[in-house]
Amino acid sequence: MSVIDKEKSQELIDGVLQEYPEKSLKKRKKHLAVVEPEKEDKCSVSSNRKSLPGVMTIRGCAYAGSKGVVWGPIKDMLTISHGPVGCGQYSWATRRNYYTGMTGIDSFGAMQITSDFQERDIVFGGDKKLEKLVDELEEMFPLNRGMSIQSECPIGLIGDDIEAVARSKGKELGKPVVPVRCEGFRGVSQSLGHHIANDSLRDWIFEKDVPASVQETGPYDVALMADYNIGGDAWSSRRILEEMGLNVISQSTGDSTVAELANIAKSKLVLLHCYRSMNYIARYLEEKHQVPWVEFNFFGPTQIIKSMRKIASHFDETIQQRTEELIAEKYLPQLERTVEKYRSRLEGKKVMLYVGGLRPRHTIPCFKDLGVDVLLTGYEFGHGDDYQRTMEYLQDTTIIVDDMSEYEMEKFLAHLKPDLFGAGIKEKYQCQKAGVPFRQMHSWDYSGPYHGIEGFEIFARDMDMAINGPVWKTIKAPWKK
Ligand code: SF4
Repeated sequence: MSVIDKEKSQELIDGVLQEYPEKSLKKRKKHLAVVEPEKEDKCSVSSNRKSLPGVMTIRGCAYAGSKGVVWGPIKDMLTISHGPVGCGQYSWATRRNYYTGMTGIDSFGAMQITSDFQERDIVFGGDKKLEKLVDELEEMFPLNRGMSIQSECPIGLIGDDIEAVARSKGKELGKPVVPVRCEGFRGVSQSLGHHIANDSLRDWIFEKDVPASVQETGPYDVALMADYNIGGDAWSSRRILEEMGLNVISQSTGDSTVAELANIAKSKLVLLHCYRSMNYIARYLEEKHQVPWVEFNFFGPTQIIKSMRKIASHFDETIQQRTEELIAEKYLPQLERTVEKYRSRLEGKKVMLYVGGLRPRHTIPCFKDLGVDVLLTGYEFGHGDDYQRTMEYLQDTTIIVDDMSEYEMEKFLAHLKPDLFGAGIKEKYQCQKAGVPFRQMHSWDYSGPYHGIEGFEIFARDMDMAINGPVWKTIKAPWKK
């Protein structure tokens, strides 16, 4: 079944749900639906709810959200995973981003530091151990510009006062030491971890007036926020902005520094990429520092051009004119060449997309630019507004699945037989063993960038290689042999 109608989509959902015991069926039913264009809100799926015990979710925890996405990639800070060693090990290699500097000298993003909690720390408390760790780190890595303390589950359970340690050590060292109460048991997914991390960014960077590196500001200063620089994405975005005549004074967080974070509040406009993870901080910056913000999407020709015009509209004639010239003379011809090269190879192909909290919405228009349709999509930790914002890009037969389980994934793959599944590492091998082409949409499968002008060509090439690679025709799922 490669193309389905609305009724068949609903039948498929019902069939998948039938396998659940009655109680689970009732709960999971709320998270699966077909797009409803006739309804005003178009999407009735329930989201941001606790996963069902026993149903294998693909989500991460709040600690992973804070450490992996927000604080971990700040390259000149040391990130302490405070608690037993396991959580840190799990989150160590989950997100790839390009950063500059020398690891262990002035860059620490690729390092894994843990306070290695033991039984005696649980019984007697770990504050002293944390203080000692901070001192040791300062001695070993004197070029660090600050530290963040990412608390794992046991820290919240025993009630250690990491804020007191952070306050006294921050004062002693004269650098930001940021306590982050991101214990994994908080909330229902990594999404709350992003929120908690951003709150700590507000309280311990902006509210404490950590020095910025920019002293004098100009009319075209902008801050690139919530772009995690996967495979150099932020650099591709930055290139477009600079060619438009804007001056990027901060890019966070995939190649960011403490001073660059502090620069955000000095910009004239915040450019928000991942709405899900940082819309709270954008609203705060607007209220407290009067810095307006605008969301942008640099995936694929349609959204790149739309976003460039939207951003330019916040500036004067000079920027607007330069943007139009750039689009007409350089970008549009280049983007059209890529479409011409790949569209005939991808037109009519069908994909399933299941990623974190923004990427389906951001990449669906990019697939559409290449003539690819989306049969099914959903979010690991999206909220209601993420789903509503996605609807305008979907057709009315698209199946929406929130917090998809491994079982549901397998069933949908078997029935929809997409030409490609775009998801994360946890789904990759199960999908490939079933003979379905796969691309990792959290890390671009170690390729990239996918943002921007040159990124679009890499995106189109990678999707073409995955979808049209001859290897898939020779693979038979081991359970079918
Ligand atoms: S849920 Fe708690 S114990 Fe598990 S990885 Fe997250 S922080 Fe660690």
